[in-house]
Formats: sequence, C-alpha cells, structure tokens
Amino acid sequence: MFEYVQDYGLKFNGALTPRKKTVRIIEHHTSGGPGETVQGIHAYHLGRGHKGIDYNFCVLPDGTVVKGRGLEYCGGSVNNSAPESKGMNDDSVAIVALGDFEHNEMPEAQKEGLKRITRDVAQYYGITEIIRHKDVSDTDCPGKYFPFDEVKAYALGGQPQPAPTPEPSVPGLTRNLKLTDPMMRGADVRQAQERLEKHLAQPGKIDGIYGEKTKAAVKRFQQARKNEGRDIGAVDGIIGPKTWRILWE
Ligand SMILES: [Zn+2]
Repeated sequence: MFEYVQDYGLKFNGALTPRKKTVRIIEHHTSGGPGETVQGIHAYHLGRGHKGIDYNFCVLPDGTVVKGRGLEYCGGSVNNSAPESKGMNDDSVAIVALGDFEHNEMPEAQKEGLKRITRDVAQYYGITEIIRHKDVSDTDCPGKYFPFDEVKAYALGGQPQPAPTPEPSVPGLTRNLKLTDPMMRGADVRQAQERLEKHLAQPGKIDGIYGEKTKAAVKRFQQARKNEGRDIGAVDGIIGPKTWRILWE
C-alpha cells in the first residue's frame, strides 16, 4: 500500500473479499459535519450490518489519507444490485472525502490528499475510469462543490492511456476433449495444444490429436492452476468448460 496512508487498525466483522478485478474509482463525500471521524463512520456501517466501513480510503479535512477497507478489497459504497451500479462494489475502489461538499467548499489540504490517493490508485491499477457516486445513483454525493474535474484531471494527467489487455477471446467448446480410443482429432484439439504450449505445459507435437502427451500436458496445466488456488475442478487430463476457459487466459 501507499506509505503515506494511515492505518487506524479498524476491526472488520468477518473477512473482507478481495476484488478479482479493478476497473474504476468511485468518489464520495460523507456529507457529515465537523467532528466526524473514520472510526465513527466505521461504527455506523458496522451498525448497519456491513462488514465495516464501506470505503477503501478516506481523506480527512487536513489531507490525511486513512485506510478504510484498504486497497485490494471489495467495498460497499454503491448499490450493488441497482441497474446503473450493478456489481460496482466488486470492481471499484471507493474513495471518500469527509465532509459535506454539497454545501461547503473543500479545504485545499483535503483536495491535495484526495488528488494524491486518486492518482496513486489509478496508476497502481492502470485505470482511467473515475466517476462520482451520483454518476451511477440518485444521490448528491459527492456534492456540487466536490472538485471532481480537478481531481480527475490530476489523477490522469500525463498518464499514458493503458493499452487494452490483449486477452484472446475464448472460442466455444463443443465437446469435452480427452484421451479416447480411437483418439480425438480436430481443430479444437489443436487449439488446446497451442494454448497448452503457451502455458508451458509441454503438449509435444501440435498435431490436433489428443494423445498421451496432450493428456499429460492437460494434467500439468490443471495441477499448476490448482496449486495457484484456481477452481479447476478435477486434475483429470480432461478439457471441460472450466479448463478450456482458463486455457485462454
Ligand atoms: Zn457516495
């Protein structure tokens, strides 16, 4: 995490869920008054049955950045089931500025803290999508005086647009691929062998024939993914939908 972020050691009610992917930052205000604290917000969200404070990071009026849920965990800052914000708690970093910026200007120091953490998160994940809570919900949050354009411009300034991740699209799997007698042949087997080779699973000759070497390579590939904690199903040398999909990563 970023060295300037303060950790108040907040205790959460149960394990937080790590995000599987991160595509955007959502900016909030608390709409609270003076005297509001991170611990107070945490207690309030706990009281509402949440695991704890809904935000990943909090920015205090003096510019101090405080760890909420932390960088890598799912938040709870938007309605995860409403159509406009569906699933966004699972792929966004939520940053909140303490204060009511529907009615008040933001102190300069707080603006600086907000810009810094927003930029660092954006650069850490190589993301350019930065939105306000009100962009996806019927709310004033983060308020009309929230310096959104300034924060966003700063966070993305001079940052090269990240190239889209070159992920091969997954072709359809029309049958499970496995060692049979006679052996399976076809373009799908060849594709699988090519992917196995890319993953260094040593399928041997790329010949479109599912033989012993292909089966052994599939088992090696499955075992390696299993060791990484992936849900691969059985290590059986059979390419079903799960193994097929992961082959294309
Ligand atoms: Zn909000």
